[in-house]
Amino acid sequence: MARVYNFSAGPAVLPEEVLREAAAEMLDYEGCGMSVMEMSHRSKVYDKIIKEAEADLRELMNIPDNYKVLFLQGGASLIFASVPMNLMKNRKAGYIITGQWAKKAYQEAKIYGEAVELASSADQTFSYIPDCSDLDIPDDLDYVYICENNTIYGTKYHTLPDTKGKILVADVSSCFLSEPVDVTKYGLLYAGVQKNVGPAGVQIVIIREDLISDEVLAGTPTMMKFKTHADNDSLYNTPPCYGIYICGKVFKWLKAMGGLSEMKRRNEEKAKILYDFLDESALFKGTVRKKDRSLMNVPFVTGDVELDARFVADAKKAGFENLKGHRSVGGMRASIYNAMPKEGVEALVAFMRKFEEEHK
Ligand SMILES: *Cc1c(COP(=O)(O)O)cnc(C)c1O
Repeated sequence: MARVYNFSAGPAVLPEEVLREAAAEMLDYEGCGMSVMEMSHRSKVYDKIIKEAEADLRELMNIPDNYKVLFLQGGASLIFASVPMNLMKNRKAGYIITGQWAKKAYQEAKIYGEAVELASSADQTFSYIPDCSDLDIPDDLDYVYICENNTIYGTKYHTLPDTKGKILVADVSSCFLSEPVDVTKYGLLYAGVQKNVGPAGVQIVIIREDLISDEVLAGTPTMMKFKTHADNDSLYNTPPCYGIYICGKVFKWLKAMGGLSEMKRRNEEKAKILYDFLDESALFKGTVRKKDRSLMNVPFVTGDVELDARFVADAKKAGFENLKGHRSVGGMRASIYNAMPKEGVEALVAFMRKFEEEHK
């Protein structure tokens, strides 16, 4: 068996230890004679799995008691709609457009009310985060929405916007659990787990309790009311059972690694190896303004489309998978999530150096 270095933006690399454990438990989970895939979500065994997953996540992120943790499904893209349906009481919200995912959320919100563009970095292909220290924020906004780490463009908010007292809603899909966060700064934060945490099919929503209510927009499906899931501990209907079980294992892996401060240290160390190389390379260039660089997604180019394609193909042959940039931007992108070992980044940089030598 040969594992490659997988730089996919998502679904993405998972810790090998977790995959091995899951494989060992596939046919018989803890002596119950069946796989987690086969058991009732109402069983005692599964109840322990989901409760422990929530408890471990709360511990990792230091989630205060007045926040609910919801395990949902439908993709982060469905949350683009659930957010306005549940939170747009005045039918008006502010969006900061830092890339395709933020834009999609903004467009979705427009179906339900007035979505105000507060700032945008579209003028420079989303290669930076706009200054959000003194935005013009209308008084009647229900919330301010951001995409905190822009998976496609490789930018990250290193300072959260000043929302001037409005509720902050953040899509943290591609930076979830990559470093410590102060949950109290958000009204709601959510992540599709297939970027940094688990298999596709699970979304985790962390929401302040006072924002959960029955007063949602008319026509909101029962399944899209946060209250439905909050009242039923994410077991209103069948949850994505197996995916939650894998997430739970990743939470335990993160705890064993030393928690989120340690992940931050590791992620900074890994990203530095790649960014330092990009800064000194005569061939490869990073595409993002330095102070807005993401620790998770690192886009780069050679400046020559054919050479980019050649690099991606050669890298694949050498065991570095999924380095092609997003179809909307081209070039390359290395996603170096929690589960990417430092050795993987070092090996990639060594390969890039060699490629540069050969294509001078
Ligand atoms: C991948 C991604 C999404 C879309 O996720 P789906 O689960 O495919 O709907 C949304 N936001 C961000 C930041 C992403 O990286």
